[in-house]
Amino acid sequence: MKNKIITANWKSNGDTNSLHNLLIPIIDFIKKKESMLKLIVVPPFVYLNQVHNIIINTNIMLGAQNVDIHSNGAFTGEISVDMLKDVHVCYVIIGHSERKIYHKESDLLISKKIQIVQNAKLIPIFCIGETEQDYKNGITNQICQKQIDSVFNVIGEKAFNNMIIAYEPVWAIGSGRTPSIDFIQDTCGHITDYILNIQNVKKKSFFIQYGGSVNESNIEKLSKVIEIDGFLIGSASLFISRFLKILTKY
Ligand code: 13P
Repeated sequence: MKNKIITANWKSNGDTNSLHNLLIPIIDFIKKKESMLKLIVVPPFVYLNQVHNIIINTNIMLGAQNVDIHSNGAFTGEISVDMLKDVHVCYVIIGHSERKIYHKESDLLISKKIQIVQNAKLIPIFCIGETEQDYKNGITNQICQKQIDSVFNVIGEKAFNNMIIAYEPVWAIGSGRTPSIDFIQDTCGHITDYILNIQNVKKKSFFIQYGGSVNESNIEKLSKVIEIDGFLIGSASLFISRFLKILTKY
C-alpha cells in the first residue's frame, strides 16, 4: 500500500478562531475517511498548544515550522526542541526556502537543526529544491544533491533513516506553477536513488513529499507520481473547501 502523508504548512497565517474553524471539519473528514492517509498540521508556534488540544484523540499529528539549534537558555525569541516536545510536536519543518530567503539559513545551520531534531526523537521534514534560475540552468539534481550532502556531512547516512524529504522547487511555492509530472517523477526518483546510494542500501527508509502550488485541481495528476509519498501544502490547506477537495481526491 502506498504511503500517503499530507503536511499542511500554515506558515504565518491564522488566528485562534480561524484555526479552530479550519480544524473541526478536517477532523470530521479524517474520522469518516477510511484510508491510509496520514495528516500533519503545522500551525505557527503560538497556536501549537491550541491545535494540540483540538486534535488530541485523533490521528492527526502536530508539526512545527522551525526550531533553534540551542537548548533552553539565553536565546531571546527562540524556541528549543525541548519546548516543541513539551507541546506534543512530532515533526519539524527544516530548511524551508522561506527561512533561507528571509532568515539567511545556511545548509550547515539546516543540517545542525536536523541533528537536534533527530536527537530529540522528532522527525524532520527536510525541504530541498532548486531556484527558478537553477531550474532554467538544468541543475536541479545537483542542487538537491548539494543540500543532501550537507546533511550527510554533518550527521552521516543515518540522518535519512527517519525523515520526510520535501522536494519543493522554490519557484513553484505560492506561484501557481509546478514542474511537469515527468520532471517531478525524475527528480524525486533521483533524490531517492542518490540517498540509497549514500546509504548503500536498496530499501528506502525515508518518505518523499512534493510541495509547491499543490491544489485541488492538480492533486489527482500529482498523486500518480509513484516516487511521491505525499504532499507539503501551503496556501490551499488554509481554505477548508479547497483542502477537503484535496483530501478527497488523494
Ligand atoms: P504553496 O502550497 O502555497 O505553494 O506552499 C508550498 C509550501 O511552501 C509548503 O511548505
